[in-house]
Amino acid sequence: MRVHTCKQIDGEGLRMEGLITEKCLCRKFVSLAVAADYILDGSALGVVLSVEPVEQKNRCRICENDDRLKKTCDNCGKTGYTTEIRLDVKRGEDIYMRPVKRTPRTATIEAKHIGYAFDTASLRGKRNSNRAKKRIDNYHVLDRMMLVELGAELIDMKTGEVLIKGTSEPPDDAKTASGRKHDWGRAI
Ligand SMILES: [Zn+2]
Ligand SMILES: [Zn+2]
Repeated sequence: MRVHTCKQIDGEGLRMEGLITEKCLCRKFVSLAVAADYILDGSALGVVLSVEPVEQKNRCRICENDDRLKKTCDNCGKTGYTTEIRLDVKRGEDIYMRPVKRTPRTATIEAKHIGYAFDTASLRGKRNSNRAKKRIDNYHVLDRMMLVELGAELIDMKTGEVLIKGTSEPPDDAKTASGRKHDWGRAI
């Protein structure tokens, strides 16, 4: 199976994602088993060969074609049925890597992100740099929020205002094995 990663599968504007209409330079091939794996984990889909709008008659969602109710139903114009446009998508055997899934977006900072944050020499560097700084800021926020979830207090460092009240530590108590001195964790 051919694997497409070319521009045409990005589906920009009104174009549907995965639609292949032109010859391209994608020359990567995988076995059926590998293609199936990609599709199962959500990173790929079968290419779209054609998309055609088809009219579909559905029972009205409001009156459900009930004889009494439909007489006054505006949704279907008193007919009991509505006509909706459905897209009939025909897929081929080749696959394409889904644009949003191509690189996993996990909340981690890798060494290169730190590198980007301080590389402001080139124009490209500058753009990456701003993005990388933002990434680090976001990560910092996630980090704080996790501590808050565990009971930490969130304080605005500029104003000293307590934004989220934390849970205080339990007092030391040898009998209940609680507090900083006696709580050594529990065997599961
Ligand atoms: Zn291609
Ligand atoms: Zn109706």
